[in-house]
Amino acid sequence: MTPPRSRDSGAGSGRGAGGGRPGGSGGSRSGGGRSGSGQGGGRGAAGAGGRGAGGRGGAGTGGRPGPRGGAQGRPERPQRGSSGTTKRSQPTRVPREQPAPTVDVHDPDGVRLQKLLAAAGVGSRRVCENLISEGRVEVDGHVVTELGVRIRPDQTVHVDGVKVQLDESRVYFAFNKPLNVVTTMSDELGRINIGDYVKDRTDRLFHVGRLDADTEGLLILTNDGELAHRLQHPQYGVLKTYLAQVRGPVPRDLGRTLREGVELEDGPASVDSFRVVDSQPGKALVEVVLHEGRKHIVRRLLEAVGHPVLSLVRVQVGPIHLGDTKPGKMRKLNKDEVGKLYTAAGL
Ligand code: URA
Repeated sequence: MTPPRSRDSGAGSGRGAGGGRPGGSGGSRSGGGRSGSGQGGGRGAAGAGGRGAGGRGGAGTGGRPGPRGGAQGRPERPQRGSSGTTKRSQPTRVPREQPAPTVDVHDPDGVRLQKLLAAAGVGSRRVCENLISEGRVEVDGHVVTELGVRIRPDQTVHVDGVKVQLDESRVYFAFNKPLNVVTTMSDELGRINIGDYVKDRTDRLFHVGRLDADTEGLLILTNDGELAHRLQHPQYGVLKTYLAQVRGPVPRDLGRTLREGVELEDGPASVDSFRVVDSQPGKALVEVVLHEGRKHIVRRLLEAVGHPVLSLVRVQVGPIHLGDTKPGKMRKLNKDEVGKLYTAAGL
């Protein structure tokens, strides 16, 4: 049975405290470009049943104006909870009304909107001009169709409903935390920690949420506090997907039991989805998707239903897949992935 670990995590790939030794600030393979790949770089079961990288978000920001969708030829806007990366009960984004703009889009000290969009990687200036003319660009919630408006980089811009990060100082990485690395940015006891992997960077990165030392897999690293807060907070319902190897066999109704909820010592807990990926005598590989983040939650849940975890990997956070990022490595999230993260977090 395939152990629940990242695909390249075998010998020589930097597993564990030794092999996973920090090798500088990472950031290799910037761009990634795998968003929308559904199963995330070939991690078989990753993707929560094919929920993929967040539906249509970001497609329009790729500079491909075209017949993608909604009524009257306008592209559909991503809706909260519709991407499969937030829990279903999540309220959808309130549709934006389009009254006469009250937002200042003519700031003489501002930068031309198409220039900012192009600098953010949305597309060439020509493509960005087309997006604006087609009414697909909003500034602070108001559709702007006039070319040549000037805005400040701190104003909020959406393209096809997906937030575009204009602040170039904001950075976002997918990091594959190796086994035996503690999820802290420093450690008084001298244990290998996340900070060891980013110590050469000048920006102050932090990790979004935590993984146990004996869990490996996807951790988002960023310096964007608001996004980080929302990705972690259960209120925003951002789904996290884990592959766990458990003691088996797993009964058919275990998924229902876990979805309905299990009483833990600190209160009830439930999963958003559960499936058996592989089953062998004495053990099984299961996929668990949940939006809550209590300590050891996956281990405690599975233990409580009689299937203790033997090993655990996080393979997806919202629309972001671990993909083939090796343990101890990080990759920069591309513009589409960042846009989808914002959508998943309701921003
Ligand atoms: N749940 C766990 O039990 N451990 C982790 O590291 C993450 C979620």
